[in-house]
Amino acid sequence: MAVSCKEVFMEPIHVKQLPHITDYLPPQHFPNPMDHNPYFFTYLTQNDVVLRHITPPTLSPSPHFAYLRAGPRKLIHHPPSEVRAAIVTCGGLCPGSNTVIRELVVGLWDLYGVRLIFGITAGYRGFYSSATEPIPLDPKIAHDLHRRGGTVLETSRGGFDLRKIVDAIQRRGFNQVYIIGGDGTMRGAVKIFDEIRSRKMNVGVVGIPKTVDNDIGIIDRSFGFQTAVEMAQQAINAAHVEAESAVNGVGLVKLMGRSTGHIALYATLSSREVDCCLIPEIDFYLEGKGGLFEFIEQRLKENGHAVLVVAEGAGQDLIPRSDSQLKEQDESGNPVFLDVGVWLKSELNKWWAREHPDELFTVKYIDPTYMIRAVHANASDNLYCTLLAHSAIHGIMAGYTGFVAGPVNGNYAYIPLEDVASAKNPVNTQDHKWSWVRSVTNQPDFEDRKEDIICYLIITGINIAVGTDQFHKSYNG
Ligand code: ATP
Ligand code: MG
Repeated sequence: MAVSCKEVFMEPIHVKQLPHITDYLPPQHFPNPMDHNPYFFTYLTQNDVVLRHITPPTLSPSPHFAYLRAGPRKLIHHPPSEVRAAIVTCGGLCPGSNTVIRELVVGLWDLYGVRLIFGITAGYRGFYSSATEPIPLDPKIAHDLHRRGGTVLETSRGGFDLRKIVDAIQRRGFNQVYIIGGDGTMRGAVKIFDEIRSRKMNVGVVGIPKTVDNDIGIIDRSFGFQTAVEMAQQAINAAHVEAESAVNGVGLVKLMGRSTGHIALYATLSSREVDCCLIPEIDFYLEGKGGLFEFIEQRLKENGHAVLVVAEGAGQDLIPRSDSQLKEQDESGNPVFLDVGVWLKSELNKWWAREHPDELFTVKYIDPTYMIRAVHANASDNLYCTLLAHSAIHGIMAGYTGFVAGPVNGNYAYIPLEDVASAKNPVNTQDHKWSWVRSVTNQPDFEDRKEDIICYLIITGINIAVGTDQFHKSYNG
């Protein structure tokens, strides 16, 4: 269906307002020191926006809105000589965290002439812990961080005490807070921002979403994701070699992805060696017609080997769980996931021994999670982290607060922190990428089977137990 330009552009576009410190404190304006930077060429204004949806209005959800475009503003709110910036990293490791730290330090120092930059150690608790002091950072200390994995500031889970954190920010005189972390960290950042606003503190808060799983919505992708997909290839190649070299060999690779299967999906599409990709967004079945065992049996007959990729959040409903395991949580209150790879390997071995007791069969299970998480960012993620960090700096220097900087449809934008903290990014199993996975792997359509089973249960009057389904619901909110 053709859509005329008029139809597209006549739609009113609503620009999402971004919190600004002058929402609750009197305005203060200072010239941007980048005026004197010979490499700098343009400032952005309130009229520079990034469309949330670039599809025609008829295809994208209403109302149509846009975000402010990220970049330097002509007038700034924080005079650089008065800035005391704090950087903190929370949650799990992710390639690129150190690059973001480096570029925050170097960007603040070189672009704006800020000299007081501090690293908060070991996550949120580092703000108030008496065991550690904030570490002064400068470009010399930070110069090679982009070549190092992990986070030089250290990280942790738990330890979120709102009052103590904001008291510490006040006591130490920080007026810019850069928070790098995943979904939990962003929820914490929203609370810190709200508390700072209610205390009317002259402090900017920016979130930099760190999620290797790419499970945060609105932004195009999160940093570390591309590095993870690239590193996953090594595990898939190894699984393929192991499977090919055995009689009836199965290579099984577990990849990161608790609530979303993006890494598994992208790794499968880029590898071409994967026979079946299992993700949390699609329930799968082991036994019976259209189940995983039947599919593997067929692949072994045809090919002699098979490679399976499974995201860590897939199949959690199938793994038997004791009552205590159902209640188990990590330090941040997240449900603990059981190892789907170990369970799948064991189920495959039991099935084969039952069905083909006299035939050789080997399952080689590879879990590259810690190897992937620990590497430094690849070239493309390093560039991405640089743009993220610089976008965050420009926004906070201009007085914006309670926001996230990130790419939306290829352009860097400022998005309210609250929106990002609640935005999920599940794999769309109706779109072409998932169809393409089905096509390159020839794996069964487990969704079809699910409908058959539900119909059967309804027709036969059997109650459908939710059981461990609650586990997923609680995790996915
Ligand atoms: P990832 O899961 O990608 O490793 P994450 O940021 O989700 O990263 P969590 O361990 O869940 O990791 O949370 C990190 C920090 O955020 C912890 O200090 C935790 O206490 C805090 N946090 C998590 N959820 C919330 C919440 N709802 N409100 C306030 N703080 C939170
Ligand atoms: Mg998380």
